Amino acid sequence: MKTWKKRTKAVHSGIRRSQYNEVSEAIFLTQGFVYDTAEQAEARFIQTGEDEFIYARYGNPTVAMFEERIAALEGAEDGFATASGMAAVNGALTSMLRAGDHVVSARALFGSCLYILEEVLTRYGVDVTFVDGTDLAAWEAAIRPETKAVFFESISNPTLEVIDIASVSDLARAVGATVIVDNVFSTPVFSNAIAQGADVVVYSATKHIDGQGRALGGIILGKQDFIRGVVEPYMKHTGGAMSPFTAWLMVKGLETMDLRVRAQAASAQTIAQALEADGVLEQVVYPGLESHPQHALTQSQLGAGGTVLAIDAGSQEAAFKLLNALEIFVISNNLGDAKSIATHPTTTTHQRLTDETRAALGITPGLIRLSIGLEDADDLLDDLRTAISAV
Ligand SMILES: *Cc1c(COP(=O)(O)O)cnc(C)c1O
Repeated sequence: MKTWKKRTKAVHSGIRRSQYNEVSEAIFLTQGFVYDTAEQAEARFIQTGEDEFIYARYGNPTVAMFEERIAALEGAEDGFATASGMAAVNGALTSMLRAGDHVVSARALFGSCLYILEEVLTRYGVDVTFVDGTDLAAWEAAIRPETKAVFFESISNPTLEVIDIASVSDLARAVGATVIVDNVFSTPVFSNAIAQGADVVVYSATKHIDGQGRALGGIILGKQDFIRGVVEPYMKHTGGAMSPFTAWLMVKGLETMDLRVRAQAASAQTIAQALEADGVLEQVVYPGLESHPQHALTQSQLGAGGTVLAIDAGSQEAAFKLLNALEIFVISNNLGDAKSIATHPTTTTHQRLTDETRAALGITPGLIRLSIGLEDADDLLDDLRTAISAV
């Protein structure tokens, strides 16, 4: 199984068959498990063996299938599935940190990630230093001997800065800090984050893993002793577990993820190049474009630019006009979905930030985030060009 390529693992890894030998993975929609004897119950609470379950907050066979399949894809020893991407980000950080610890984080973060680092961790006495994630000298200056963890989005939301996982991990490893990467925009398809030095990889499964806008979910991936010794005790007692039904959606999502994400990324590349060549927009930001500041890093770290691009319409008024003129793209705030989605970060996902913070992060009033779906790329490009000419 170790020699299988990602697409084979995505279909077969982690499978657990019941006594009926079903082909498609079963949903074990049960909160608990029956013990044959009182002695067996006692023994299981002392030491839970492989494929033994107690309570769905701790684990469940369908959830275990998802954890094992995504861990195999990512090249991680183990994983703990969570109720949402934010439960995964919070669980990865909070399970390992305590008062007095120091964390270094990239500043360009999804609003809820920023909330955890800026508001939650500091409330419990964790010292957090924010840096420009693309500036290695800034990481080097901020990481101290007592730094316990570093945190960043490998591609930032929504400005699409690409962070050098190998170089930041080298700096962190020198002081024994744990490297925690929110890898949503990189996707499990293009990611080699663990091989490149990350200790812990976190995904919102809500995005490309489900890929069809049905359910919230998340996963924390890493070494077995970290997942079972640090993350699991925290998660199982604080209640952020993934539901078995969600795990089933995610297991089936993983089977088609490679095909979906590659098709979406190919369309994103085509659309970004065409819009840039049109030369009408203030800015087209896509890590797969040669004009992107981290284009070379994107090629070596991921080999593709991902499924999301950002365009600048020039002003909020122009951005709203453009959004309202779109026919195929839906105005929403998910990403990685089969349906193409347009988002105005300033007034939605990043509304909570001050004007100054948004400006510092490059989130201009005209910025629109485009998540490219599975529709025909020519239709999507026509839709965008029509909307752009309407502005
Ligand atoms: C969406 C997202 C999250 C949060 O995931 P949920 O499943 O919505 O909780 C975290 N990080 C990034 C980069 C995201 O895009």
